[in-house]
Amino acid sequence: MNKAIPIQLIGGGLVGSLLTIYLAQRNFQVELYERRPDPRQGMFLENRSINLAISARGMKALKEVGLLDEALKLAIPMKGRMLHDLNSKTAFVSYGQQEHEVIYSISRHDLNILLLNKAASYSNVKINFDMRCITYDIEQSKLSFKKSTESITIPAHCVIGTDGSGSTLRKSLQKQLPFSTHSEAMLEHGYKELHIPAANNTFQMEKHALHIWPRKNFMLIALPNLDGSFTVTLFLSNKGDISFDALKTSAQVDNFFIRYFPDATLLMPNLAEMFFKHPIGSMVTVKCFPWHVDDKLMLLGDASHAIVPFFGQGMNCGFEDCSELAALVDKYPLIDWKNLFTMLEQQRKPNSDAIADMAFENFIEMRDTVTDPKFQLKKQVGYELEKRFPGKFIPRYSMVAFHPEISYYRAKQQSLIQDKLLDEICHSIDSIDSLDKINWKYVAKFGLFQCSTTPDNQTISLPQIRSKL
Ligand SMILES: Cc1cc2nc3c(=O)[nH]c(=O)nc-3n(C[C@H](O)[C@H](O)[C@H](O)COP(=O)(O)OP(=O)(O)OC[C@H]3O[C@@H](n4cnc5c(N)ncnc54)[C@H](O)[C@@H]3O)c2cc1C
Repeated sequence: MNKAIPIQLIGGGLVGSLLTIYLAQRNFQVELYERRPDPRQGMFLENRSINLAISARGMKALKEVGLLDEALKLAIPMKGRMLHDLNSKTAFVSYGQQEHEVIYSISRHDLNILLLNKAASYSNVKINFDMRCITYDIEQSKLSFKKSTESITIPAHCVIGTDGSGSTLRKSLQKQLPFSTHSEAMLEHGYKELHIPAANNTFQMEKHALHIWPRKNFMLIALPNLDGSFTVTLFLSNKGDISFDALKTSAQVDNFFIRYFPDATLLMPNLAEMFFKHPIGSMVTVKCFPWHVDDKLMLLGDASHAIVPFFGQGMNCGFEDCSELAALVDKYPLIDWKNLFTMLEQQRKPNSDAIADMAFENFIEMRDTVTDPKFQLKKQVGYELEKRFPGKFIPRYSMVAFHPEISYYRAKQQSLIQDKLLDEICHSIDSIDSLDKINWKYVAKFGLFQCSTTPDNQTISLPQIRSKL
């Protein structure tokens, strides 16, 4: 790799700004192009989620670039889900068993600023704001931009597209060298962000929790902010009897919230006004392949694998892309970009597909099943298995959120098998107290607990499970 040839990154969001740091630390010349004005000049980011959950994969990446401690100063630990029922009763379900098994709520804006400041501190980095990439002519190696009304074309060298789910670079690639696989599935649900203010600088609900109001086909969630407020997100179908379409007047909005989220409604003054002021966001799952063209273009982050937000992993997965790219650069310093991109996409694609699927499944879990007693029993049994067989049985959520050493692909495969076991166990008991009816000797011998040794492609049938229990 010739380090004198600049790498051009398109998109200075979370993934692009982190990748700039990784590459700068490895002495590459980096040119970052971002369509927005510099957010460090006081401009707020466009309409994207205000805060995000960051977990072990994202934190590993921040640690690698030396920013974890600073990022954690901007974050609030969330130890579990606080479930709110229709009668405003709450129940707390922790995310993990260990003290350190928490996820963190962090402001997207603050994290982006932290990353951009660090990126800008390297002399081998040049950041260009207000530069909207219009197209990338891969054949002619030319990048075209719009800067206010001016059109600018520059020679392209090695381009990495980190320009998000609506990626211009992905569209350029698709037009010129069609993908072998490509899908963009828009969720029929939209989302709207609302706000619970602080009261006298204090939190009006439990601070260390991600609050959820699951209501079958729709839900409300709330994440804490450092100033004592909560960012609230309503996920709701766009069309139908209960939908954004059906909420046209202030009275309809007030009635809907009072009926389904009574406790949250009391904490949101001017709810209807805020509701109509804030836009409805959309959510898309993007899957495409390949992610690169020779040594000319690579797509990373949401540009190559946007996912729905219900596992809180989109950014975490994009950060893991960057970490793995850096690890490959370190491991193969003499390799060219073409081979490195090939290796990276082969490594990442099964993982990004797996987290895309799990994120969608988590949508169903969060809105439908989280309050189902069978679901809660399965969770309890899962935790108990983890306690009794430490390191051998790890629940899906924990594998994804707290174990970056287990790939997303592996977590999905493993949890499919584990889920069958949990179903079998829960079929034979009706409460966690009767768990000791189970013959633990056989469960302990059950090969599917061997997270680290089970082959990735192993599947196990229900009769096989029954015969072992
Ligand atoms: C409601 C919601 C909640 C979420 N919650 C979580 C969460 O809790 N945890 C989590 O890990 N993930 C979460 N995500 C996902 C997360 O937001 C994304 O995965 C993450 O932002 C991806 O980062 P990115 O840098 O790839 O893309 P983006 O953050 O979209 O950044 C892309 C950047 O490229 C710039 N750009 C776009 N087009 C161009 C162009 N043509 N030229 C130049 N610049 C361009 C944009 O201005 C932007 O700065 C959530 C997403 C949503 C919608």
